[in-house]
Amino acid sequence: MTQSFKTIASGKSFVILPGQDMGILTAGDLKRLAGITRRYGVPAAKLTGAQRLCLLGTDEQQLAALKKDLGLSGAMPHERGRVHYVQACPGSRWCRFGVADAPAMGKMIAGLDFGHPLPYKVKVGVSGCRICCCESWLRDVGLIADRSGWKLIFGGNAAAAPRIGDLVSERLDDTQVLDLVRKCLAVYSKHADGGLRSARFIEQFGSRAFRAEVLGK
Ligand code: SF4
Repeated sequence: MTQSFKTIASGKSFVILPGQDMGILTAGDLKRLAGITRRYGVPAAKLTGAQRLCLLGTDEQQLAALKKDLGLSGAMPHERGRVHYVQACPGSRWCRFGVADAPAMGKMIAGLDFGHPLPYKVKVGVSGCRICCCESWLRDVGLIADRSGWKLIFGGNAAAAPRIGDLVSERLDDTQVLDLVRKCLAVYSKHADGGLRSARFIEQFGSRAFRAEVLGK
């Protein structure tokens, strides 16, 4: 289980969203989570659209102890130089339409350490074919596989002011994707103020200027 999380005040209770490994839970994860939910009297859990797990209605007084038991660090992932979360579809290993192993690519991106804080949350969606089940055009970083390789999209957002991301490059192999993700986030980190999501940054900076700096053209 990754260590990203967020808490949301919800009346008298709190909701905790532990980061998940693209929604993939092992038997060990389930057993551990079941033990924790029993111990803290968590009344319900919910799978989120971001492939994470909400523990609903948790007791505010027990929040610190609960986070500790979940192994959650206090800092947000972007403050630790990591992406906020990665969503990935089942990909070619499990889906008949898949042309690339989306969870394997997602895992590589989730494991990247950028060595410096990122301006704000970076959400990643990895889709194993052009049907695009992970809504990659609406993520800060989106990947879509087709038979010629990966498409890399940057600057999408699905929140209050939605934005379809910009195609940065295509026909990329795995190594080229990881290299280009690093470059995109380096340019974003160099020019964006803290707290500025990638979609708003691209609107200000300009997608053409961004692409030119990332690709060195
Ligand atoms: S994006 Fe394609 S490969 Fe992934 S789950 Fe959807 S249909 Fe299958």
